[in-house]
Amino acid sequence: MPSLEQLATFLDATLDIARIPDYPNAVNGVQLANVGDIQRIATAVDFSTETITGAIDAGARLLLVHHGMFWGGVQPLTDHRHRRLWMLVTHDVAVYSAHLPLDVHRQLGNNVLLAARLGLEPSSGFATYQSIDVGVSGESDVPTRVLAERAGALASEFKGSLVATPFERDRVTRRWGICTGAGADSSSLREASRRGLDTLIVGEGPHHTAIEARELGIVVLYAGHYATETLGVRALGDQLASTFGLTSTFIDVPSGL
Ligand SMILES: [Zn+2]
Repeated sequence: MPSLEQLATFLDATLDIARIPDYPNAVNGVQLANVGDIQRIATAVDFSTETITGAIDAGARLLLVHHGMFWGGVQPLTDHRHRRLWMLVTHDVAVYSAHLPLDVHRQLGNNVLLAARLGLEPSSGFATYQSIDVGVSGESDVPTRVLAERAGALASEFKGSLVATPFERDRVTRRWGICTGAGADSSSLREASRRGLDTLIVGEGPHHTAIEARELGIVVLYAGHYATETLGVRALGDQLASTFGLTSTFIDVPSGL
């Protein structure tokens, strides 16, 4: 049975944790250590009391998440924040978090996996952040309606629903961009317009993005922050499980968004 150190070494290398930039609160890598060896792992999109409970119930000694322990910033370890920590330590569960490194990964990343799920093949990057392209983009000949149906199927799998800006029934998507999670904002729309993209598929975005998109002639499909980010952690968990002979359980706690 591997130790946390062995798993972390593998994860850090696979995800290129040291090289990929991220928001300060992401704190990618091991966020909480444990003591014993690890036979079972759990994966989840979010760090929360419910996902910790799921991990403990699954017998996991490592919880692998996309939005980690420090996502909400520096806060006192009281109330539910204390409870989470207490549960983890008393059950000897470690926490490893991978945010942008998991979004951008070429095989296990949320963005390439969402493209595959929608039947799209990326040929380039999209949604530039510092030195990296977080998202992917490409060309297609698919009716926008069909993409919306596929994105809607993913959303409903995770108790969400697709929100789409209005489009004509016979519209065809020729150039698309994908950025999972909070992928629609003024800067990604500007970039989409500059690159001549006509359809964006994202997790979520503020109201003004729908208005701006219409002005730019871009259709945005909002498939859900949660749903679009379930893909990477599950793939990473499966990869870790097959490499080390472990059991990986996905703890599905939809956020509703
Ligand atoms: Zn996210």
